[in-house]
Amino acid sequence: MPATILDGTKIANDIRGEVAAEVAAMAAAGVRPGLAVVLVGHNPASEIYVRGKVKACEEVGVYSEKHTPSEAATTSELLRLVEDLNRRDEIDGILVQLPLPAHVDSKTVLMAVDPAKDVDGFHPVNVGFLSTQRPGLVPCTPAGVMEILKRSNIAIAGQEAVVIGRSDIVGKPVAMLLTNANATVTVCHSKTHDLPGVCRRADILVAAIGRAGMITREFVKPGATVIDVGMNKVSDLPEFQRLFAGNAKREETFRARGSTLVGDVHPEVAEVAGAITPVPGGVGPLTIAMLMFNTVKAAKMRRGSNVPEFAGK
Ligand code: NDP
Repeated sequence: MPATILDGTKIANDIRGEVAAEVAAMAAAGVRPGLAVVLVGHNPASEIYVRGKVKACEEVGVYSEKHTPSEAATTSELLRLVEDLNRRDEIDGILVQLPLPAHVDSKTVLMAVDPAKDVDGFHPVNVGFLSTQRPGLVPCTPAGVMEILKRSNIAIAGQEAVVIGRSDIVGKPVAMLLTNANATVTVCHSKTHDLPGVCRRADILVAAIGRAGMITREFVKPGATVIDVGMNKVSDLPEFQRLFAGNAKREETFRARGSTLVGDVHPEVAEVAGAITPVPGGVGPLTIAMLMFNTVKAAKMRRGSNVPEFAGK
């Protein structure tokens, strides 16, 4: 039986609707959550991401402002900008779009963001809150992975979960969230021995690697839930055909555009998995939805309100 497709676009839209309702309720109390986005220089991919984030703010009713220092901005200039945003009460969230230019000390800039406004959840204070199960701001993509599992009624407690990837942005926080939700978690990386064998233990397999279609059917226990975080651009025809042989519709789009977006999981896995997230339309849409959620959460926490750890249910 083919896997159930977990529709990330629908789940993200549900969350955005819930956030919009929350923003409307806050407006009635005279509060409007605000997000400041800092985009340094002219990285085309970053410009697209930032446009999506600003548009999402407009849709849910969050105030937003965009700061665009030039490519030549120095670390101290960026620190001054962040400190100014830290001081402004109407700004609840500060997002410094990565990557920063090579001459900038990214870690210092990110460390300067007030943890209470750190809507990306990257500040060590928020990492510490997550690891000790205290309320804080959780990184958006990992929080989105949990929302997909919860809203799809996938059991987590007591299940074997395997996370491939140990980055600070995705792998580690996903592993932490699954641990906090009482899964039995194994974290894999490039030095893991017998990766397919370890992955086959998983009831929940999360791939956050950055390698197109690396996870083939031999990595997956029949019936497992597979969450594909990977976003890889494939523009090489033989590589495309390794992944999508026989998919005439997708090949037509590939030939027209010259590339396609591919996850870390090979499409053949849909034949063995119980449930799977597609790429595109799986984890991707959750990232911006959870950024909106985090901005509202920051606005509430800064004003002393309790908020649930997740957007819904
Ligand atoms: P990183 O490059 O920071 O981390 C990749 C991880 O995968 C590392 O831990 C690395 O191991 C591991 N890895 C690499 N090759 C192998 C291998 N052959 N076998 C086992 N493990 C391996 O990437 P990110 O965590 O930032 O991103 C991962 C993917 O998720 C990317 O495709 C990225 O584009 C995507 N992404 C998607 C988002 C979304 O919104 N959907 C948001 C953020 C990321 P080691 O530590 O040993 O080097």
